[in-house]
Amino acid sequence: MTKITVVANSNTALPASPFKGCHLIDGAWQESSDGATFERISPSHGVVASNSSRGTAADVDAAVAAARKTFDKGDWPLSSGKDRATLLLKVADLIDRDRERIALLEVLESGKPISQAKAEIEGAADLWRFAASLARTMHGESHNTLGRDMLGVVLKEPIGVVSIITPWNFPFLIVSQKLPFALAAGCTCVIKPSEMTPSTTVILGELLIEAGCPAGVVNIVLGFGDPVGTAMTTDPRVDMVTFTGSTRVGKSIVAATSGTLKKVSLELGGKNPQVIMPDADLDSAVDAVVFGVYFNAGECCNSGSRILVHEDIAEDFIARTKDLSAKVPFGDPLDPATQVGAIISADHQAKIHAYVQAAAKSGASVRLGGEALPIDGLDGRFYQPTIVADVSPDMPIAREEVFGPVLSVLTFKTLEEAISIVNDAEYGLSAGIWSENVHTCLEFARRARAGTIWTNTWMDGFPEMPFGGMKESGQGRELGRYGLEEFLETKTVTMRIGATRSPWVA
Ligand code: NAD
Repeated sequence: MTKITVVANSNTALPASPFKGCHLIDGAWQESSDGATFERISPSHGVVASNSSRGTAADVDAAVAAARKTFDKGDWPLSSGKDRATLLLKVADLIDRDRERIALLEVLESGKPISQAKAEIEGAADLWRFAASLARTMHGESHNTLGRDMLGVVLKEPIGVVSIITPWNFPFLIVSQKLPFALAAGCTCVIKPSEMTPSTTVILGELLIEAGCPAGVVNIVLGFGDPVGTAMTTDPRVDMVTFTGSTRVGKSIVAATSGTLKKVSLELGGKNPQVIMPDADLDSAVDAVVFGVYFNAGECCNSGSRILVHEDIAEDFIARTKDLSAKVPFGDPLDPATQVGAIISADHQAKIHAYVQAAAKSGASVRLGGEALPIDGLDGRFYQPTIVADVSPDMPIAREEVFGPVLSVLTFKTLEEAISIVNDAEYGLSAGIWSENVHTCLEFARRARAGTIWTNTWMDGFPEMPFGGMKESGQGRELGRYGLEEFLETKTVTMRIGATRSPWVA
């Protein structure tokens, strides 16, 4: 029996009282129109982490009205890139200043490890700085070749009022993949964080106000998909919805927005394969596979949750992966040594376990883990690092998002077969290959149907590099200059110069 590494009994003190979060509407913090609230119980510590106003359709109505009025009548959409960049840079500095406070709340609501939460907050500040650079450098085009009397200009304009809806797995990072880019473009926004992790978005609202963000530019409504999310996607005054979350809800948002034909940008689920060729640097590949599947307890759209290993090296690779998996410290997310924390909810833990059990029933073999992991002294939910081998491509565990610390191992004989298994999928978020042969890597990079390809690495991301999915993993892109483009309209201005227009009617 392989012994799993567990971290328990952290000495970090919990906050004396839950965080209190309200809606931010037109520059003012407000309770819900009906006074309702909801609690978030920490998935790792079992304490009440936050108490938040529970939004109603009336709250969304007020927030959208504020965003619309500010866009149509306010100065923000016409402000200079310099002024917008100045605001974004100030917010980045304030995020750095409050990193510890934001990270602690992120841990208590999401269950992720504190070291990772701090790194994410730092990464988020970097996104605000990168977006500031785009605010100053974005531009359209001019056409000076339309003939002697004509000049064409293509203007880039903010798309308008944007609804931003975010999930629970990277609350602060994901809102920072959207909001600073929308603000750089000159949009006004209404944000709904996940009901599981509302509080760090509220802190972001506080920092925006402190940085001098004008009232109505950023509005926040806390609460659930119904009624808050649905009102944000059906309101005719909203021009665009940017959503990160499940493919199921993404599809319902496309349906909800069709009535008003809003632009929709979607970052959805993934079932991301890594192909391990026999000539791979196996030490490096094993470490990346372990990182890819256990990072954020596997609750990650980019989770490397299915690996395809060449049959000649499969048993050796599984043995090495099992040994390294057992060394990953699972446990108390507030302990700096912990690398994998709690599972977000009891329902979700049951779903993870059901996938493992169903795979075992269908003939797969559980080589490590496969059970809940109680942690001494913590009233939370944890799941063991789990490796399921002998998985066939048709099993749900090979095709669907498990969203837990569960690795599925499949085998193949040829690169051609591996590419065909990789592409036989509903999702197309990311994919990777491990080989010391550059031709093999390039062949894979060009033929795998995924928005991001990693060769000899996994889950490296940069603000400069666009991110998004193909197929049912989404539409549109975040980050890079494409991340700004999503929030821009293109306007054509065609101008006659000097000479009179030749008449149509003689
Ligand atoms: P989810 O779809 O359940 O919820 C996401 C958000 O949508 C939440 O704020 C929720 O309240 C809201 N919502 C729910 N129903 C709604 C409705 N009918 N209308 C409008 N909004 C509604 O997702 P989740 O469980 O919070 O997050 C996990 C999912 O997110 C996974 O599938 C994961 O792959 C995906 N994800 C994708 C990316 C990416 O960049 N591709 C990143 C992170 C997470």
